[in-house]
Amino acid sequence: MVVEVVVTAMRAGSEKGGPARSSTLFLAALVSFYTGATSVLLIAAVAILVPSPARASLGRASLSAASIETSGAVSELHFGFSGPAPAWNLTAHNQQLWIDLPNTRSRVLPRPLYGEEAAPIGAVRVLDDGQGGVRIVVEVEGKVDFAIARLRSTIVLRVAPSGSMENLAAPLLALGRERVATRRKQPRLPSGAQAPAAALAGRASGAESAAQSTAALAPAQASSAIERGRSAGAPLVMIDPGHGGYDPGTSSASGIEEKDLALQIALRLDAALRARGIRTAMTRTTDVFVPLSDRTRLANRADADLFVSIHLNSSPNPETTGIEVYYLNNTTDHATIRLARMENIGAPASYGASGGANLNYILTDLKQQYKANSAASLARMIDVQTVADLNSEFGAGVNALGAKMGPFYVLVGANMPSVLVECGFLSNSGEARRLASSGYQQVLAQGIADAIVHYFKADVAVGNL
Ligand SMILES: [Zn+2]
Repeated sequence: MVVEVVVTAMRAGSEKGGPARSSTLFLAALVSFYTGATSVLLIAAVAILVPSPARASLGRASLSAASIETSGAVSELHFGFSGPAPAWNLTAHNQQLWIDLPNTRSRVLPRPLYGEEAAPIGAVRVLDDGQGGVRIVVEVEGKVDFAIARLRSTIVLRVAPSGSMENLAAPLLALGRERVATRRKQPRLPSGAQAPAAALAGRASGAESAAQSTAALAPAQASSAIERGRSAGAPLVMIDPGHGGYDPGTSSASGIEEKDLALQIALRLDAALRARGIRTAMTRTTDVFVPLSDRTRLANRADADLFVSIHLNSSPNPETTGIEVYYLNNTTDHATIRLARMENIGAPASYGASGGANLNYILTDLKQQYKANSAASLARMIDVQTVADLNSEFGAGVNALGAKMGPFYVLVGANMPSVLVECGFLSNSGEARRLASSGYQQVLAQGIADAIVHYFKADVAVGNL
């Protein structure tokens, strides 16, 4: 089946109103749309979103310290607070990252790191946002990757030139894990992953170090967002094991079928999320065929907050391995188109017809565009978290293939952020064998669950400028 991904004619979105959250990003998408920008510009607009945290806060936070440490290619900024670090609203504006902190006062200089800033970090400015809050503006030079985390009384921002650090977020995810996870019987510091932040923090002066923060993380604080979620109705995740029944999906040379592994991993994800206080539902729990259109319909009917589809990958190149996470959007990447063709088998014949009309509504529905924004952030998080966990647990050398946009039919109809996790390649015999093992599946499922917890808590984010 041909999947038409080059959309030439856009029509106005029919959704009334937009999401109240992240109006800046919503506007960015809108501007790109009305200026007739290409999908590349839309991508630029959506690539910068991270989840907005709840605005409510008790008492006013106070920004009391700022410091910068560099180690190799990584620059690490620490913003210290007297009292708990506030929730942020993070947005990107060309070469600037804005960290908006509502209900916060500043006790640092407007250029707190003047004279210490060095590439890729340009000027760091702290501004009064005029609404009782603070905006930290971090200018960067060139293309960079970033990872940010909110610890107890510090916000840590790591920045490195694009592609120079394989897993920039790993140290922060390790710290975050200490806060949210209770799954480890024997708490353990991931060796390679933890080292950079710990090393940086050890030399940090002034601001609270990441290492101190880790030690100070009170158990009472762990999972606080989820506890809030419980009282307000915990978030609901619809888990979708791919394929099933007479649709086996892809398979390994040794006969391992995608539908079976997807179900096993999905069941483990189900248990891992429940253990973290998140409600779950599944599109299938046995080896049955579920039409693609029914899968998102189930999620919509349940009013799920998130849709996560679990799949296994295949490549003509048997050497290809790794984890990639897709969210709905347009794409011109050939490998993505090929994968989408495989995964779309079973979609209605009209979907992706070469006229393109059936796909147009995906791109031009602004509400849908907004969902893609949210899903992009989560997709990145799942990719870095699972790879960091698997590599630290097994030293498996798993490739982080990244977060990508893909026109997967199963993601189209959902009313909530939706991602599709390609957990690994059955076309690689070694990875197929690992994926079939219960230990590997368990760490993988827990990594996805931890990323989802970060997503709902909005305490860690990754992205690029
Ligand atoms: Zn699949």
